Amino acid sequence: MAAQVKVFDTTLRDGEQSPGCSMNLNEKVEVAKQLERLRVDVMEAGFAIASPGDLAAIQAVCAAVKDVVIASLARALPKDIDAAWESVAKANAPRIHTFIATSPIHMEHKLRKAPDQVLEQAVEMVKYAKKYCSDVEFSAEDATRSNPEFLYRIFEATIAAGATVVNVPDTVGYTTPLEMEALIQGIRNNVPNIDKAELAVHCHNDLGLGVANTLAAIRAGVVQVECTINGIGERAGNAALEEIVMALRTRQDLYQVENRIDTTQIYRTSRLVATLTGSEVQPNKAIVGANAFAHEAGIHQHGVMANKQTYEIMTPASIGLAENKMVLGKHSGRHAFEDRLVTLGYALTRDKLDAAFEQFKLLADKKKVVADEDIEALVQHKAAAIPETYTLQRFVINSGNVITSTAAVKLSHLGVDREEVATGDGPVDAVFKAIDKIVGMEFALESYRLHSVTEGKDAQGDVRVKIERDQTTYSGRGLSTDVVEASAKAYLNAINKLYDQVRKQQEQPEEAEV
Ligand code: MN
Repeated sequence: MAAQVKVFDTTLRDGEQSPGCSMNLNEKVEVAKQLERLRVDVMEAGFAIASPGDLAAIQAVCAAVKDVVIASLARALPKDIDAAWESVAKANAPRIHTFIATSPIHMEHKLRKAPDQVLEQAVEMVKYAKKYCSDVEFSAEDATRSNPEFLYRIFEATIAAGATVVNVPDTVGYTTPLEMEALIQGIRNNVPNIDKAELAVHCHNDLGLGVANTLAAIRAGVVQVECTINGIGERAGNAALEEIVMALRTRQDLYQVENRIDTTQIYRTSRLVATLTGSEVQPNKAIVGANAFAHEAGIHQHGVMANKQTYEIMTPASIGLAENKMVLGKHSGRHAFEDRLVTLGYALTRDKLDAAFEQFKLLADKKKVVADEDIEALVQHKAAAIPETYTLQRFVINSGNVITSTAAVKLSHLGVDREEVATGDGPVDAVFKAIDKIVGMEFALESYRLHSVTEGKDAQGDVRVKIERDQTTYSGRGLSTDVVEASAKAYLNAINKLYDQVRKQQEQPEEAEV
């Protein structure tokens, strides 16, 4: 049997903490469930000490998924480890992941500690974590700029203290494949008790080498790789899970390792993370970009038609991209709709299916052809649904190139309707200002993006907004064949998230105190 590599996904921690990628509790749970379907071995669900909200989200993830190890990150400090344990104590398979920097520059300028002090702290904190949890991972932050001799010592000591996984992070994305391979071999040859722990890598993409470095580490014998969906993460991001997994699969001849990922879930996971974070994938992104399987050049098309393997090293189906482009329309029945959902990989409860079918019918009335992308947008939108404090009843706009745009918006709030009129710089701005008046708050619009779900004049507009209030950002999304309506829905979605969060904080005063 081929050697196994475990896939450790940190989309919910490293990915989520990157600018513009924050997710609320429900969104994190939704991603976690999908990661479980993708069959990652470990998911890092967050950094518990960061905020009570982060801690609560990790707990919610632990309650929602079972067939996976759930890790919680902690600096090598007792209060961090206490919070990490509080967050994963109820997981089926909890892990505390603690770290301390080991490079001269970090030890000197950030920690202001001598190497021996750092080593002692690492050992103490692994022992401290071990009192709570049998599964403890230790990371040597900035390992690739650390003295290898010091890494050997600190890994030997932390493994002796009980670390079950030792991780080599390329925290700043500095290393190269050859160097990584040599470093991993050095660790395997010079840490006497290395067989008592699993050796891992965590690569960043600052030089565009995150995946290459990860694959080099696999060649050198690591058994766990840390990565994120779509490669999201701090700065230039982390090594992309889908790229690592498809490289291992496509070049099985070269790597000869196996993993338990269900690759047919890759595309859906990518779409879900892009949708919920609002961080879209570039069209030429490997594996999951819109053009990754498009063969537009005539010569390629001819080749692909004659024999797919001429230009295709992977099939779209292997990542769960349905090749079946049979379209649905208003005459499609419930059965055809349900079939398509199953093909796309969605398992909905009866209630959710009913609701989705209703939405589909409404959409099919407005749009001749309902594509897979439309259905995905619709279902994912439903999945991320939150309680609607404010609901859009109706709006009227008056707009043109020689007049000031005016919008009248009616919202219902706890059963009471309220209407306001506002002018603005264009119809969308006027609608947002009218909503502000009704809600009685003003928000800073951090970003506004509109893209069409499919091609064609009757395509659905998909609007993502980010609004800020009291230093917190709320993202919202709205879907409609009318872009002003999609904008209003997106804006309200973000406002409703703010209310949802306030409500949750009020419901859990004690937890917020801890
Ligand atoms: Mn990182």
